[in-house]
Parts: sequence; C-alpha cells; structure tokens
Amino acid sequence: MKHFGLRIWQTLIGFSVLALVSGCSREPDTHKISGDIKTRIPFTSEGGAYSLQAVSLSGIRSLYEFSGKYVTFYMSPSVSDSKLTGHQPKTRFIKAGDVYVPEDVMSQQLAVIYAHFQRLAALDNELGAEGVNTWPRDVGVGVRYKSEGNRYETNNAFYDGSTDSMLVVPYTQNNLPIAVNAGILAHEHFHSLYFKLVEKHVFKAQQALHGKSLREEVLNIVEDKNIEISKPLPEDNDSFTTEYHALFSRGINEGLADFWAWIYTGDPDFLQHSLPSEKDQRTMNIEEKAAEEFVFPNSEIWKMEVLNRYSGAQPRGCRGVRVSYCLGSKYARLLKHFSGVVQDSRGLSSLEARKLVGTAIVKALPTLKESLLSIKTGEYFDPSSFFKMLQDALPDVQTKEKTFLEKLVVNAQKKAKIDEKSVREGETQVNPTAEIIPAPILPDEIRGRK
Ligand SMILES: [Zn+2]
Repeated sequence: MKHFGLRIWQTLIGFSVLALVSGCSREPDTHKISGDIKTRIPFTSEGGAYSLQAVSLSGIRSLYEFSGKYVTFYMSPSVSDSKLTGHQPKTRFIKAGDVYVPEDVMSQQLAVIYAHFQRLAALDNELGAEGVNTWPRDVGVGVRYKSEGNRYETNNAFYDGSTDSMLVVPYTQNNLPIAVNAGILAHEHFHSLYFKLVEKHVFKAQQALHGKSLREEVLNIVEDKNIEISKPLPEDNDSFTTEYHALFSRGINEGLADFWAWIYTGDPDFLQHSLPSEKDQRTMNIEEKAAEEFVFPNSEIWKMEVLNRYSGAQPRGCRGVRVSYCLGSKYARLLKHFSGVVQDSRGLSSLEARKLVGTAIVKALPTLKESLLSIKTGEYFDPSSFFKMLQDALPDVQTKEKTFLEKLVVNAQKKAKIDEKSVREGETQVNPTAEIIPAPILPDEIRGRK
C-alpha cells in the first residue's frame, strides 16, 4: 500500500494549481452557482489509491458558502441548543471548461468532504440504513479541541452524538489530510449510524463517542459530567457493569466503523495514508490461518481486559482507552476475512461481498441494542455473540459462512471453559488473550482517540 508523503500530497495540490494557470476562464460569481456541478479534487479509487479526479457534486445550494443537500459546514464552530453554530465558509473556485476547480486548500477540502458525504448517503440507502440519518449532515471544520495539557488537538476527526455532527480538527502532519481521507470520513460517518441505532438508546445521549466530554472540552458546553473512571471498580457493581458495556460498545463501534471504511474504499489500511504510525495497530489484514484459529474474547476475557487495562497484563498498545480499539480491530479483521468467505462461497465481487456483510451489520444492530438493553447488573454481554447476530441477519447463509461464524463463537466458549478450569485449579488468571491471540506488532506509545 502506498504512503502519501508530503511530496505526493503537494503533487495533488500542484495539479490543481496547474489547472488554474492553464486554460481557465475568469473567476465565476460563485454566489450564483447552484445545482449539480463538476469539480476536480483529490479522490480515492477502489483500494485506496488517491489521485486528482473529476467528481460530480449534486444538490449544491451555494458554491460560495458550499452548502447543499448533503453537508452544511461550520468553520471553527461552537454549540447552541445542541446544534453546531459558526460562520459559513467563503470558498474560492475557478471555472476551467465545465469544471469548478478549488482555488485554495480549504475550498478543496470542503469539496472533498461534500463529495464523500454524497456517496456515503447513497451507501446508507443501499445497505438498509436509509432514514437513520438526516441530511444535510453538519460538519465542523477547523475545530478547536483542547486536550490534555491544555494543547489544541490536531490530526483527528470525531463524531459527536450530542450535536449529531462530524468535527475535523487541524491536520499538521505531512501526509494525506484527514479531511481528504475517504476511509476516515466513512469511519466517522458510521459512528453516526451506530449512535442512532445502538448507542443513544443504551447509554446517555450526551456521551461523546471519542474520548472525554467533547461538549465541554471542544465546544465549551458544561452540562452533565461524563463518567470518568481511572481505576477498576468491583465486579458485579452497577458502575462496573456499565463500564464493561460502555467499553465493549465503543470497541465494536470502532471495529464496525473501520469495516464501514473498508466497504467504502476497499482499503484495509485506510488510516495509514494520514496517520502512518497507526498502521500496525489498525490494519484490517489478517493471515488466513490466524483468522481460522482465532479465539475471540468472550465475556470473561473481555472482563479481564477491562479490569487489566491500566496494568502490564495488557499489551502496551491495548492499555487505557486503547483496550476498546484493540477489540474493535479484532472485529474489523475478522469481518474483513469473513467478507472473503462470503465472496468465495457466493461467487461475488469484493465490493458485492462487502456490501452484503454491511447490510447484515445494519440489520444486526437493533438486535445488539435490544441485547444490551436487557443486561442487568452483574450480567455481561459476550462480545463473540455478535457473530451469531450477524449470521441470523445474513440472507441465505452458506455452509462455509455458517461454519466460519459458528467456529468463532464455539472457540470463544471453549476458552471460557479452559479459564474456569484454570481458576478451579488455582492458576493465576492474567489476561489469557495476550498469549493466544495473534496480535499485531504494536507501537510503543498509547495513542488516544480516533
Ligand atoms: Zn472512531
């Protein structure tokens, strides 16, 4: 997979500039431009190759402020009445033939975001998620996010359920900007689907999906405090049950969001174009043998990972909040592998198989929601049982598909029996997943949100 270093990114920008000086007419009055237009922007092809492409945008209401059917942009937004507020952008486009070419980086990035949301809306409809979201989506650009140490956060994007918006903070690295990364935009978009289909029904609606209180820290809104837990709580305690399921929910949300990005781009390493240091941690590739023999966390294993997340029993890259991301990557890798099983057993293309599994995920999410809602204090949802929900949501399930999904559930239960035995025999029970799961090589640092 190609890296997009500064040179390549400059080349993409450079083509735009070239277009400006070669054969462009005078700048149009973009106030008056609306409807369907053509633009030329950095865009991804199947598999994650970025190049400058001619792309059609539909439903534009004002090219100058870049508003339309699919996105309303807010520059450096704040919040009023649970909604983003802020000034609208003022874009610069120049007409070259029948193509409107962005004249500056900001105009280019807004056009790219709009183009992807237009396509993500179509994907929602195709995969059975029509009507889950309302359109246009609210997107904040140049968001000021103060993180630990009172520094402004950079190089990230967020979905915030309380304002139902996507927020992009400034990008400072020399790779593909996050605002232009198709996979990251699709990942964040999936969070809005998960929030509406699962999260907001199960947890507090104002809970931020990425990190701490987004409303307070990004948007200067102070209301209910989110629960911030820094040390393990006793098991079978209401707070621990909530914490267990909140971290589980965040994990599956992250994993399915990565999978959604793969459906959209066909790129299992979509993150590395913008954040190369994340590649080993978040790649969706998994060896055939590892996938076939995978022991997915059951509730006992996940409980231990949650309890041990600040201790050395967890691999370095899976500590703290990263415990959820590590669970998410397991879902993403196995679902990607499973899509290959679907592709082979039904004679489909990769894209058709991805979409079929995506449709089953959308169908399975209400079942997941109901299951989480029925949990009582001291009960624990088994993370591996999602594969059973997925199997039930698949149309005409094939033998190979059934075999693969059932084996994941059976292997997880087998491991539970081994663990019970080792407890009975008085063995020390320290995170067995660290030994048995073929984990990727993990970077040294513990990274935050994504
Ligand atoms: Zn995410």
